[in-house]
Amino acid sequence: MEFAFIFTKINILIIILAICSPCKFIQSPMDFGSSSLLQTTNTSSIDFGRIIFSPPSAVLRPQSADDISLLLTFLYASSFSKVTVAARGAGHSIHAQSQALDGIVIEMDSLPSDIHIHKKLDEGHGVSYADVSGGALWVELLQESLKFGLAPRSWTDYLYLSIGGTLSNGGISGQTFKYGPQISNVLELDVVTGKGDLITCSPTKSSELFFAVLGGLGQFGIITRARILLQDAPEKVKWVRAFYDDFDIFIKDQQLLVSMPDLVDYLEGFVVPNEESLLSSSIAFPAHLHSVPSFHLSNVYYCIEFAVHDFQVEPSVVEQTVEKITTQMSYLQPYIYSVDVSYFDFLNRVRMEEMSLRARGLWEVPHPWLNMFVPKFGIKEFKDLLMDNMSLNQFKGPILIYPILKNKWDANTSAVLPDTEDLIYIVGVLQSADPASCSAECVAGIVRRNRRIVGAASAERIGAKQYLAQQPSLLHWRCHFGGHWNRFLARKARFDPLAILGPGHGIFPRVRLHGVDSTW
Ligand code: FAD
Repeated sequence: MEFAFIFTKINILIIILAICSPCKFIQSPMDFGSSSLLQTTNTSSIDFGRIIFSPPSAVLRPQSADDISLLLTFLYASSFSKVTVAARGAGHSIHAQSQALDGIVIEMDSLPSDIHIHKKLDEGHGVSYADVSGGALWVELLQESLKFGLAPRSWTDYLYLSIGGTLSNGGISGQTFKYGPQISNVLELDVVTGKGDLITCSPTKSSELFFAVLGGLGQFGIITRARILLQDAPEKVKWVRAFYDDFDIFIKDQQLLVSMPDLVDYLEGFVVPNEESLLSSSIAFPAHLHSVPSFHLSNVYYCIEFAVHDFQVEPSVVEQTVEKITTQMSYLQPYIYSVDVSYFDFLNRVRMEEMSLRARGLWEVPHPWLNMFVPKFGIKEFKDLLMDNMSLNQFKGPILIYPILKNKWDANTSAVLPDTEDLIYIVGVLQSADPASCSAECVAGIVRRNRRIVGAASAERIGAKQYLAQQPSLLHWRCHFGGHWNRFLARKARFDPLAILGPGHGIFPRVRLHGVDSTW
């Protein structure tokens, strides 16, 4: 144990000395022997997007928060260093957000994924929560908490994402309208700042760091532990899908469901641009969809997806709840389907799609995704903008559209939302680019198209903001943050003044301690 600790320390020192040296002598990570601390791994310059590949000079596989603190303390104190550091959770970013060109990637999955569940006493005060490593996956937390009959309240659609990765962005899904994003469901964090300080923070303790880090794009510190709020987990859910051929009616019904948080536990929706898209979105949904609307070339359909938790107390309660909801909806008769699935399978539904895509060689392909938060007033125009810019009959991948409520987000966090009314739509254009039909040039074309859409949608009449943002310049980042830019800047100056962290976003150029000043 003792030996391993000293060994880790020595290795970190070697990495730092090597990378900080003015005459850069890392030719190959193998120069340093076989230590896993030094090898750049295949995964450290790859992410889910498969669009940008930025190889680091070295990789750190920490065994504890202290290893990370040691690395950042040294880098912060080093006067001639240009080294940057990115935390890599599960690497499911699209645009190299967890990469560090010529820097150090910290692979967070090497931290022991200790998960401690605290269940409140039946009649007791307080809340149930889990303490979990920043590098653990949400699926691991779910598996562990279910052993206690508990689960987090707020999710992402896909569970093989890391705790630290989604908390650095927001973490949204069909529960967000009800419980807020994942960043609204955190009680406490352990964070290593860009200065190397290891700090425990919460809404009442070192709160500026706590709120900075949530939605903070990995710019202020590295989350090594999170305390996540838990609630009682249902045994099963009733999962319902209803189809529409009219966009106005589709969004009107979504708004109706948002107004029923006492009945609805999960609410999403998606565009069905072609038959293939319908089939691929139904892999995890075990209903017989043989009678779905027949597709005509000119038709686009929409689907509302909602779920009701089933605690299996009284058999008819869930049926009655679903009926109460659906009788108020105006879907295309008779196209409504429902299935009963275990809570775990429901939350883990995208994993089944992943397996199917992997089997067809379509998972590890480029993903030029675009995610936007669109205010209610701009959603129709944004939908038209999308339709005008995409050929829907050839589109591969889901296009999600569902509402969330701004008042469920804490304005103190670093997350960016439209500066408008309460009801906001998340629109996810989750396109896959099969190399068999879409070359690198074609992918670059989709990225340019997405950029044009972001530009047009940012105009006042739509007022949208990008989620999981990628911006081409500092000026664009300033516009993205809008009125919150100065706060973001002040937080950076306070917690990572040398801009060591999060280089993949391209927001802040690295600052030398006694050297050229930055242009932020
Ligand atoms: P990474 O890509 O590894 O990192 C993301 C960012 O967080 C980087 O800036 C990185 O430096 C930083 N970071 C990572 N770990 C830490 C840490 N411990 N401390 C500080 N910073 C850190 N998002 C949603 O909100 N809802 C969804 O439903 C959803 N579904 C998805 C489905 C799929 C199939 C995929 C690929 C992505 C999905 N996402 C979704 C997006 C996902 O939330 C983000 O891409 C997230 O960043 C992925 O987490 P990760 O652990 O892979 O992060």
